[in-house]
Amino acid sequence: MTEPLAERKMQFMYALRSKGVTDKAVLTAMEKIDRGLFVKGLFADRAYEDTPLPIACGQTISQPSVVGLMTQALNVNPRDKVLEVGTGSGYQAAILSQLARRVYTVERHRRLMTEAQQIFQELDLANVTALAADGSFGLPEQAPFDRIIVTAAAEDAPGPLLAQLKVGGIMVLPVGQSDAVQSMIKVVRTDDGYDYQEIRPVRFVPLVEGMARDN
Ligand code: SAH
Repeated sequence: MTEPLAERKMQFMYALRSKGVTDKAVLTAMEKIDRGLFVKGLFADRAYEDTPLPIACGQTISQPSVVGLMTQALNVNPRDKVLEVGTGSGYQAAILSQLARRVYTVERHRRLMTEAQQIFQELDLANVTALAADGSFGLPEQAPFDRIIVTAAAEDAPGPLLAQLKVGGIMVLPVGQSDAVQSMIKVVRTDDGYDYQEIRPVRFVPLVEGMARDN
């Protein structure tokens, strides 16, 4: 038998803390934004487990503790304009909406983008804009950004994204040569270049160039 919802939500928050999500603002945002709204169908009753789950278009909603750790590493300030590449379910963008002034999120599957947009409307998250686009080129019309988060893995940090980061800005993304070996890295743009820091091993779906063909 499954535990009552309140119990599952408590375990959800406990899992975040025990995996190293300690930032108060991040925890508050993750307590407020109900992951249950972003997981549909077969896996809906597993929404409060600390595990990635399948969503439409063969993609995944990230593991909650990874969302928490990435968001924490991004160190978002209330005045920030943030770009997310890889809207997926919209969960990560909704968390960011609680921390930033403005969030742009781009997704190559139009269907995922539209479904996420509906949830943003239902939740009245007026500071999130979802767009159907190939995010490997960033979002030049809104650049530069204070923060950029990529939730799909490329071999390296894509050049256009590095270029669209403000000086002093932070980008967090998974990088790796294969599906099996990836690490989450944090890139800080300095006056004369970029500082790279490895955070932890992760596993994400790949960053794919071009719009999806099911659009
Ligand atoms: N942040 C999401 C996780 C989504 S998984 C969430 O909270 O649910 C990664 C997503 O990145 C997938 O939906 C995939 O379609 C998308 N993606 C992959 N390559 C992309 C690209 N070049 N541009 C935009 N989105 C991309």
